[in-house]
Amino acid sequence: MFGLSEETKNQQVFFSEIENKEISLFMKREDEIHPFISGNKYRKLKYNIEEALKQKQTTLLTFGGAYSNHIAATAYAGFENNFKTIGVIRGDELANNLDEVLQTNPTLKFAHEHNMDFHFVTRSAYREKTTSKFIASLKEKFGDFYLVPEGGTNTFAIKGCEEILTENDEKFDVICGAIGTGGTISGIINSIKKHQTVIGFPALKGDFLQHEIKKYVLKNNNWSLNTNYHFGGYAKISEELITFINKFKSETNIPLDPVYTGKMMFGIVDLIKKNTFKKGTKILAIHTGGLQGIEGMNTFLKKKKLPLID
Ligand SMILES: *Cc1c(COP(=O)(O)O)cnc(C)c1O
Repeated sequence: MFGLSEETKNQQVFFSEIENKEISLFMKREDEIHPFISGNKYRKLKYNIEEALKQKQTTLLTFGGAYSNHIAATAYAGFENNFKTIGVIRGDELANNLDEVLQTNPTLKFAHEHNMDFHFVTRSAYREKTTSKFIASLKEKFGDFYLVPEGGTNTFAIKGCEEILTENDEKFDVICGAIGTGGTISGIINSIKKHQTVIGFPALKGDFLQHEIKKYVLKNNNWSLNTNYHFGGYAKISEELITFINKFKSETNIPLDPVYTGKMMFGIVDLIKKNTFKKGTKILAIHTGGLQGIEGMNTFLKKKKLPLID
């Protein structure tokens, strides 16, 4: 499954809101790299799976929220490569009515159908997930495992993300990517050419990201974060964002996810409308996938009586 055709296509974006702006905008369709291991999660898992096989590990353990793209991707990657998988999931209340959760939460349902075992923990325990004490308690409970960090971010993940851009992308001036933990954007920054700059769009509040990214980016300062388009925080959404995502899809045929790529594209379009880029700029936005999250978000939107994502 890994290592096959790995170069994804760049699709030009023709969108009415920016059609008179003399900016050329493309999206790299990483969402199409694999039917279930979406976008950047494929890139991030590739060398981790390779390393786990090299270490002759039989179990992958990782962490995530109940709608996490990374949880869905790791479950499938483990399934395909004959690993047992354990998902440490934030929210101990989910354990109390697991049958109902599995019926109503498409992410956990998918992971469960691909043999992932869940270990639900309280939010406070979840915050301890990187401590050696917490990891030791997991080893006591589950035996030995290959640990994939939250969001998959480690040096193996960065290496995979350094393969997103190819020679064909050297014609672009600006590369944009959505940010959760910062692993993907770090790999992209490491692989740009001298004439290129990177703008990262964090999907969550907080300024820890600058520091995280600097851990993985060594040689290059040609990047910045735009923190104006997180819409109030991780997985927060507004009607304006939903309307944008639906309009964007109907005009361009590109589906966007509500947590990451929807916010990034909203930001890019807004910046273009405000003439932030000089005429003739060639922008490549990375579609990091995450479309599995739409169904879960729609369940939530329905409850809130908000419009749904098409
Ligand atoms: C996980 C994810 C991201 C964030 O990637 P990081 O490497 O954690 O910054 C961005 N976009 C999508 C669609 C994702 O699923």
